[in-house]
Amino acid sequence: MAQNMTAAELKEKLCYKKTNFYDNATDAEIDAVYDYSNGYSKFLDDAKTEREAVKTAIAMAEAQGYVPYTVGMQLKVGGKYYYNNRARYLILFRIGSEPVENGVRIIASHIDNPRLDVKQVPLYEDNGFAFLKTHYYGGVRKYQWVATPLSLHGVVSLKDGSVVDVIIGEDEGDPVLYINDLLPHLAQEQSKKPLGSAIPAESLNLLIGSRPYPDAESEAIKLNVLNILNEKYGITEEDFLSADLYATPAAKARDVGLDRSLIGAYGHDDRVCAYPSLTALFETDDSEHTAIIILADKEETGSDGNTGMQSAVFTDILSEITAWAGANLTATKANSKCFSSDVTACYDPNFPEVFDAKNSAKINCGVAMSKYTGHGGKGGTSEASAEFVAWVRRILAEDGVIWQTADLGKADVGGGGTVAKFIAKHNIDVVDIGVPVISMHAPCEVISKADIWCAHRAFVAFLRK
Ligand code: MN
Ligand code: MN
Repeated sequence: MAQNMTAAELKEKLCYKKTNFYDNATDAEIDAVYDYSNGYSKFLDDAKTEREAVKTAIAMAEAQGYVPYTVGMQLKVGGKYYYNNRARYLILFRIGSEPVENGVRIIASHIDNPRLDVKQVPLYEDNGFAFLKTHYYGGVRKYQWVATPLSLHGVVSLKDGSVVDVIIGEDEGDPVLYINDLLPHLAQEQSKKPLGSAIPAESLNLLIGSRPYPDAESEAIKLNVLNILNEKYGITEEDFLSADLYATPAAKARDVGLDRSLIGAYGHDDRVCAYPSLTALFETDDSEHTAIIILADKEETGSDGNTGMQSAVFTDILSEITAWAGANLTATKANSKCFSSDVTACYDPNFPEVFDAKNSAKINCGVAMSKYTGHGGKGGTSEASAEFVAWVRRILAEDGVIWQTADLGKADVGGGGTVAKFIAKHNIDVVDIGVPVISMHAPCEVISKADIWCAHRAFVAFLRK
C-alpha cells in the first residue's frame, strides 16, 4: 500500500464534505447575496397567493420583453412568451437557437401555499361577534393560525362576469382579521390534547366585526359587516358563493438574525424557488436552449385540477412549441431536462430526532438536491437516475455553485412529495432541487439568503449549460 500522500491530502482527495457558503465567499459575493435577497423579499410581499404571484411574475416578465402567448401564435427564435392559465398558473418560455428536438430546459415550482380558504357561505353572527368560516388548504398546522393577525386576499367573481380584487390587512393602518384562541386559565383540557387535534378545523373562524348596524332587529353585526363590504367592494352575501378568498398571515417579510443572514416570511414554500427560476430565466437570454419556467398552482393539495402540475396545459404548450418548430414531440420530451424546484426541510438542531443529520440539508450550505422524495420505502417518488444526477453535479461544479443533498427526514418519520413525478411521467429527466426551509408551512417560515442565491446560480447554470 503506497503512502505517498499525507492523511490531510488523502482526505481532501477522497472524502466528501458539505461546503458552507460563508467559508469561502468573498465580500463581493456576500454583497451580491444580500442585494439579491432584497428583490426576493419584495416579491414575497407582492405575491402572497398564487393569483398575486402570477400577476407579479407577469409584470417582471413584461419588463424583460416577454409577451402574452396565445395558442397557435407564430413563434420566433429568441422570442420570449408567457401563457397565463386561469390567473393561477403561469408558463414562461424563451425559444433558443438549438433545435427544440434536442430537448428543452424546464424549471417547475409552485406558487400556492398553505392557508385558510373562506367557505362559500361563510358569514355568521354569534354572541356579539361576526365571523367568516374557513376551510384549511394544504398542510396547515392549525394551532399556528390562532391569535395572530391575518389578512384576506383573493377575488370575488360577480354574476355579471366582473371580478373584484380583495386585499384587506396588508397596508399599514388596514384592519386585520383574527382567530380566537383559548386563554391558558381555561385551557386545561385543550392543553392535554395532541397538537393536531387541539384546534379543530371548524373553530378556525375569522373574527370580522363586533359592531351592530343601528336599529337592525336581528343579526345586526353581520349586517354591518355586509354593509362595509358592499360599500368597499360592491358585493353582497350571495357573492361569497363565487369567490376565491384566502386568509394569510398579515406580516411582511423580515430579516431574521442580527447578521440579517436569514429571511422570515409567509410562503417561502415555494416562492423561494419560483423567484430564482424567474431571475435565472431573465439572466440567460444568451442561452441556446429553449427554456420553460412553470409556476404551478395546487401543489399543496396534490397538483390536481386544471391549474395543477397534472393539468395537460404543460404538455399542450410544449406540443404547440414542437409543432411550430417542426420537431417531434416524443423525441423532444425524451431529450428534455427538468429541475423540479421545491423546498426541502432544513436540518433543525431543535428537533434532531426527526432528521438523518448526514443526509439532511444544512443552513447556508447551498441549494439542496433531493434525488428522491416520497414516503417510507420511497413510495410515490420519481427518483432521478444516477446518470442525471451526475450530469447536474457536473454543470453545477463548472459554475462553482455551492449545493448539497437533502433527504427530508428519517425514513420512518414521515415524508413528502413535489411536482417532480408529474413531470417524470412524460418521460422527462427530472430531479428535485430547491432551498432548505426551517418551520416549513408555518405562517412564518425561515430561509437563508445564501441558499436562495445558490438556487439562482444553480438555475442559471441549468438553463445555460
Ligand atoms: Mn413546496
Ligand atoms: Mn409545501
